[in-house]
Amino acid sequence: MRIKISFTDYFMEDDINKTLCYFKKDQLFLSNIVDIKWIDFFKDILPEFSEIVYFEHDKPECSNCGCEMDPNGSRESKPNKLEGIRKKQYVCPKCNKTHLTSLEPFISRYCNYSHDICEKGLNYDYIAYLSYDKKRELINFENNIKIARQTVYYHESTYDETFLKRQEEINLELLKEKGIEPTGYYHYD
Ligand SMILES: [Zn+2]
Repeated sequence: MRIKISFTDYFMEDDINKTLCYFKKDQLFLSNIVDIKWIDFFKDILPEFSEIVYFEHDKPECSNCGCEMDPNGSRESKPNKLEGIRKKQYVCPKCNKTHLTSLEPFISRYCNYSHDICEKGLNYDYIAYLSYDKKRELINFENNIKIARQTVYYHESTYDETFLKRQEEINLELLKEKGIEPTGYYHYD
């Protein structure tokens, strides 16, 4: 198991006086330096809350005019398809440009899943050969999230180009073992 604790690093440096989390009514406001994989930990150690609202650790500046932005409500978000998570929105008082809290160190902008979830399938390969169905099952069980088999495959192919090659070799080996001769070209979809 890989455990990475990054809070200490942040606390040791100049982030020491900035808020990491706070409660407002029954919402937990969480800084966006907190990895989404820590959410369960916060649920365990804190009183009950109905929603998590992620906010920008550093007050954002407008990318348009450089003006300091004001908080402007929040929007629903589903990182790792988790429910009950929102992102704080900010608006520029000068030009009205809006900005939504970014979780980009942990999850890329156009992906539903965090990097560590995307890499899970590849990591399992270091332990044993597992089918995508098995990987999907393990990811769902281990992280309590729902992920499709195709998504696991997609993540692996985008996260590691050499992965496909390796996978092809493994599959050829399996075919050989079972005495099946592949004929002509074939591809994965
Ligand atoms: Zn602006």
